[in-house]
Amino acid sequence: MSIAEDPSISAFTSQESGVRSYSRSWPVVFDRAQGAHLYDTDGTSYLDFFAGAGALNYGHNHPALKQVLVDYIASDRIVHSLDMFTEARRDFLDTFSEQILEPRDLDYRVIFPGPGGANAVEAALKLARKVTGRESVVNFTNAFHGMTLGALSVTGNSLKRGGAGVPLVHATPMPFDDYFDRDYPDFFYFEKLLTDTGSGLNKPAAVIVETVQGEGGVNTARAEWLRGLEKLCRAHDILLILDDVQMGCGRTGGFFSFEEAGIVPDIVCLSKSISGYGLPMALTLVRPELDVWEPGEHNGTFRGLAPAFVTAAEAIRTFWSDDALQNSTRDKGAYIESRLNAIAAAHPVAGLVPKGRGLARGLQFSDGETAGQVAALAFAQGLLVETSGPEDEVLKLLPPLTITDDELNRGIEIIDASTTVALAD
Ligand SMILES: *Cc1c(COP(=O)(O)O)cnc(C)c1O
Repeated sequence: MSIAEDPSISAFTSQESGVRSYSRSWPVVFDRAQGAHLYDTDGTSYLDFFAGAGALNYGHNHPALKQVLVDYIASDRIVHSLDMFTEARRDFLDTFSEQILEPRDLDYRVIFPGPGGANAVEAALKLARKVTGRESVVNFTNAFHGMTLGALSVTGNSLKRGGAGVPLVHATPMPFDDYFDRDYPDFFYFEKLLTDTGSGLNKPAAVIVETVQGEGGVNTARAEWLRGLEKLCRAHDILLILDDVQMGCGRTGGFFSFEEAGIVPDIVCLSKSISGYGLPMALTLVRPELDVWEPGEHNGTFRGLAPAFVTAAEAIRTFWSDDALQNSTRDKGAYIESRLNAIAAAHPVAGLVPKGRGLARGLQFSDGETAGQVAALAFAQGLLVETSGPEDEVLKLLPPLTITDDELNRGIEIIDASTTVALAD
């Protein structure tokens, strides 16, 4: 029986658009989930090294978050509210300010831009253009910022860009850190174009950057490169937008992925794990002097999903009132790194390259076919792990930050064995 004929999934294969993608790699019907495990309708369990593409940093259905959500809904509290004042919104704003922004000495106004990461990016781009009166934005090679037209214009992937149907304009790509294997000094090209009046580069309103490019292949920017970028932006009066949609909320260790570099972006985009429970929620954080929109100049129906605010506030109280999570993320990240180094060393001719920071890790293969084969073999052994990068050549490890050491070890054992089988073919 082919997958298309399987009666348990025919609803998806015959009624749903062919644009669906993750379900092609993992063609089972998922039903329940807890922590780092999902279970399909047959009760088979899957270890999760995917974590909702980074939307489930605290795992599935965390008991503390589930409790506040169930209580909130059971007492008929407000669910939908656009941007009206609600108790849930106030509690989130207070908690975020007191436990996340103030301890880090960050002064941002909060924009609720709509439910997804692309909404946070669109708001950032629009606001940067309004503030500066300039149109052009600089993005980086292999960047990923979302699927709406503005976000897509600053995204690198050619398949995704091809879906736009209109010219993607007002964006100029520059080399990300290490794009030329350190053959040139940092910002060699970007800085030259900015300073040469004959370069033809329109002065950008903003630069948009990820500290670790997850979708682009787990490419990590060095702290000194990020500091150099901040310096360049300041010197040329360009706004710095940091897209922390996937790498924020503790994925690399600290709550914000840019903390380690000591930089302060002008605008920060957050989404994916901000609600802590997989509920849709996004934030665009802006320096107070950039908060220039007229009331209603940017709006949207789903900017006030109160259940998401409730779990978001509880997630901050549960995980960010001390350093425990951030330390364990760094320790677990170092552990994965050592295991990936060992896998790479065991296959010297295959040219495997371990990549990443914190619990955003990658293992680069020489081609997408091999990486895809490893992911497929891993799935057959009950591990969900995806691939990313321009040719899908990077196995991308994004386990929940709350994963146990045993679970982490088991997942890596599966990757190790799958790699050995794939490379033997
Ligand atoms: C996922 C992602 C987005 C887009 O978020 P959506 O919720 O899918 O719109 C933007 N930027 C980065 C870095 C992402 O990982």
